[in-house]
Amino acid sequence: MNAISLSPTLSDLSRHYLELEEKYGAHNYHPLPVVLDRGSGIHVWDVDGRRYIDCLSGYSAVNQGHCHPKIIHALVQQAEKLTLTSRAFHSDLLGEYARYITGIFQYDKVLPMNTGVEAVETAIKLCRRWGYQVKGIPENKAKIIVCAENFHGRTSTVISFSTDPDSNRQFGPYMPGFVVVPYNDTQALLEALQDPDIAGFLVEPIQGEAGVVVPDEGYLHRAWQLCREANALFIADEIQTGLGRTGHMLACDHEHVRPDILILGKALSGGVLPVSAVLADDPIMLTIRPGEHGSTYGGNPLGCRVAIAAVTVLQEEKMTENALHLGELFREELRKLNSPYIRLVRGKGLLNAIVINHPNHGAAWELCLALKDNGLLAKPTHGDKIRLAPPLVITRKEVMECIDIVKHSLQVLDQLS
Ligand code: PLP
Repeated sequence: MNAISLSPTLSDLSRHYLELEEKYGAHNYHPLPVVLDRGSGIHVWDVDGRRYIDCLSGYSAVNQGHCHPKIIHALVQQAEKLTLTSRAFHSDLLGEYARYITGIFQYDKVLPMNTGVEAVETAIKLCRRWGYQVKGIPENKAKIIVCAENFHGRTSTVISFSTDPDSNRQFGPYMPGFVVVPYNDTQALLEALQDPDIAGFLVEPIQGEAGVVVPDEGYLHRAWQLCREANALFIADEIQTGLGRTGHMLACDHEHVRPDILILGKALSGGVLPVSAVLADDPIMLTIRPGEHGSTYGGNPLGCRVAIAAVTVLQEEKMTENALHLGELFREELRKLNSPYIRLVRGKGLLNAIVINHPNHGAAWELCLALKDNGLLAKPTHGDKIRLAPPLVITRKEVMECIDIVKHSLQVLDQLS
């Protein structure tokens, strides 16, 4: 399937950009046929000047809204001063950032990285190292429990424990040492934890890529308790769910769970730079010593300055509270549409999804094309689910505008057999 052939209404200018990407770029994504060149708050504009409400937010990286002036100001100021030292030297910002971010999340230490998956890799290494040095697991025997339908990124280690064939088919051989249990199943977790070589349990508090799968209330707390009892680390991947998205600073906060290892990314920079982080206390973090892990860009001054600004505006402008209240409104209004084509509305805060009910397998994609034509950008995930996750700066009026667009766009499914 090719985006260009699917969109006969594309302007010549858009078509030009799509063709460039198709000819010279690898075909590892299947984007909606829209070419953007500007963003501000919840809006983005295409190269023909059409405005859209962004209901994907860069997969929840742009929680603070596109080009938030205070984040961009921090970026520009720092970019003119110092951008990268590598970790061969100190900078005047790494310590300040480390104190700031550990203070916000109440951990002893932070290990800074760049992309989300690098932070997941870091957490895996830390967990294994802790397993050997603190728990006393025999060398090379450590295992980590993960959940079916997980999404933690795309490196060869991380896809080794994916259950999605699109992610790992023909990319083997796979990294050993992972045990998959069903998500939202504490009995299966309890059984897996009986193995004395288990070092930890890696979990998304809500499975975003799987289609915003929200576990039963109490699951995270019970899972955290079970890990505690088995002397295994509870590792929360809050790359998509963290930083206000679900109506609390962390999705784990809904159940008063404090992960042993916390993984953050995406909105840590407000969509400006790849900035990720792993937070843990000393008995875990200090098992890694100089020279044993790192990244040229991890903890760079530009990223540190931007991350401080990104988290500061999140708090100053009460975006988390906004996500909590407007998320409820969003779900309530979606349910009120009472559409035969919406099987289910689910989510927390402003991380929401609708599950499409239609005999045509391409219905979710067709609906996304109609949403785009009506001024709202969203993308299907796993075939029949559409995530609706606007920037957290959205207003009540704009939520109602989204609902109107969804309502109007659903009509396209009447014509689809
Ligand atoms: N973990 C989760 C829960 C994610 O949603 C993602 C990306 O969507 C990642 C990890 C990977 O992050 P990145 O694409 O920045 O490597």
